[in-house]
Amino acid sequence: MKTVIITGASRGIGAQTAKLFAKNGYAVIINYNNSKDAAEKLKQNIVSEGFVAEIFAADVSDYGECKKLADFVICKYKRIDALVNNAGVSVIKPLYETEIADLNKIMGVNFNGVFNMCKAVSPYMVSAKRGKIVNVSSVWGEKGSSCETVYCASKAAVIGFTKALAKELGTSNVNVNCIAPGFIDTQMNAALTNSIKNDIINETPLMRMGTADDVANCILFLAESASDFLTGQVIKVDGGWQI
Ligand code: NAP
Repeated sequence: MKTVIITGASRGIGAQTAKLFAKNGYAVIINYNNSKDAAEKLKQNIVSEGFVAEIFAADVSDYGECKKLADFVICKYKRIDALVNNAGVSVIKPLYETEIADLNKIMGVNFNGVFNMCKAVSPYMVSAKRGKIVNVSSVWGEKGSSCETVYCASKAAVIGFTKALAKELGTSNVNVNCIAPGFIDTQMNAALTNSIKNDIINETPLMRMGTADDVANCILFLAESASDFLTGQVIKVDGGWQI
């Protein structure tokens, strides 16, 4: 059975991606850090529909925990077909209020997390001579956004890392791509006022917020054989907001 590890899958984009992969025949490893109850509920939901899922706690900013996660999947399923690096945190503050602790937290999860999981998983993909890695960046990783300097830098780092790793792993038949979501309706945007949300919707050619499903569909495409000749790409899933 094909397996996928999805980091930060307890809610939002990650949770929707977990449901979609399960329906498409993958055993889904739902990674979470704090939200055990939500991860467990998602797993029960998937299993009750006759699909395969399990949860695994790991803080992606800690390499040792990522290694345990990868080793667990290999030990139990003998293969890792796809890795979705989705876990992310955001802090919205001007630079003068941004603390070193904020810098370490955001880079630790959003960039080091991608590095850690790729380092832990890619040796198995290389030896299997097949694998798909999908990293979740953001449109802000290319464009930049005021009061999100570190978040934008972390997402830009993910884009650079994706392109470099695609070159490194291509000869081993491992594809490494990146998606850059725009404005997606998840808890990450819960604090935005309706007026800000409406402004963004009005700037978006498709005239709506994205859904976690919109993003999950693109992630699944990048994990499947339909995208076998795509690597090192950054695909915006933003309704045309940042073209
Ligand atoms: P979300 O609803 O806030 O979910 C974030 C997920 O990340 C949670 O499941 C959380 O799990 C997990 N997480 C946080 N720190 C972690 C850690 N140290 N280790 C493992 N998991 C961790 O966010 P979302 O909107 O679904 O975002 C998912 C990804 O899309 C992020 O990388 C985000 O930057 C990116 N993105 C989102 C948008 C948007 O508009 N929503 C736009 C562009 C990019 P726990 O609660 O268990 O810690």
